[in-house]
Amino acid sequence: MKAAVFIEPGRIDVKDIPLTPCGPDDIIVKVHACGICGSDVRNFRAGLRKNVKGIVSQVMGHEFTGIVSEVGANATRYRIGDRIAAAPDVSCGQCWYCRRGLVNLCDDHRMLGVDWPGGFAEYVHLPGEVLERGMIHHVPEGLGLDDAAMSEPASSVIAAQANAGVGLGDTVLVLGDGPIGCLHLEVARARGASRVFMSGAMRLKGAEAFAPDLLMDATRDDVVGMAREATGGLGADFAVCANPVAATQEQAVRAVRKRGTVIIFGGLPRNKPMTTLDSNRIHYGEIRVMGAFSYPAPIHRKALTAIRDGFITPGKYITMTLPLDETVRGFEAVLAGEALKVLIKP
Ligand SMILES: [Zn+2]
Ligand SMILES: [Zn+2]
Repeated sequence: MKAAVFIEPGRIDVKDIPLTPCGPDDIIVKVHACGICGSDVRNFRAGLRKNVKGIVSQVMGHEFTGIVSEVGANATRYRIGDRIAAAPDVSCGQCWYCRRGLVNLCDDHRMLGVDWPGGFAEYVHLPGEVLERGMIHHVPEGLGLDDAAMSEPASSVIAAQANAGVGLGDTVLVLGDGPIGCLHLEVARARGASRVFMSGAMRLKGAEAFAPDLLMDATRDDVVGMAREATGGLGADFAVCANPVAATQEQAVRAVRKRGTVIIFGGLPRNKPMTTLDSNRIHYGEIRVMGAFSYPAPIHRKALTAIRDGFITPGKYITMTLPLDETVRGFEAVLAGEALKVLIKP
């Protein structure tokens, strides 16, 4: 089969590779679409996340949908022709966190597109352990397979806001104008937030389509000052850091009100993870600074229905669709901020 294989930082080759045969516990999926994720782009630039098997070259892509084309005798939850959507995380089921149901924090957490070949290919082989401990869900009736590819990024946003408690009447400041920032805007509104402010730089044009109540250009506007002014000096109830920039984390702490919440959603570059926060503000203002990473399987199912029900509008994100042969062009478009979400369709 044809696949886009990550070889080394900056290099992806589209070539023929063998497809692992379908074992008795496994299924094979014919890929319909696979979104390029921020983490794929990060791997493309910096190399694959350190992984247990020491894999350095891989078929990336974990935001994929497709049609089941082969089913092993024991994989009874699936049938040929089923429409499925995949999310990447596979937990071990054994560690301290897994035993407490905190599977997204699994100590031996593995991922499709890193530990197993992912969706930038004609087919994906999904072994039994991925079906068992991962997130391969049926796409609900009435939801197209292009749109369903947004379910993966939407899931982590839905989980973060549920854990943080974003709700009715809240004011939410989103720092970051990429697809994740825009998802935070839509999910906050779906949860009842009355106002969502957004700051960004590269992709403000795309963000305009979501009509934030206040859109700020972080390269020239005083984001903290404007957010405070728009809330009568109080500050936002929530600030979400949805980009890999340490400076926005510091802004977030200054832009929320006392007892407000800062959600650190975007990871910083692997070799530069440090940040500076005003700890006195956190202390005297009883500000909560929380992390957010991934989600358990039921959230992925919720994301699929949230998209089907119109709370998330994939058409505004998917601004570029390319064939497998042009995967690298897709990565470059994301890096250049030309497209909000790029779908690769083999
Ligand atoms: Zn992703
Ligand atoms: Zn575990």
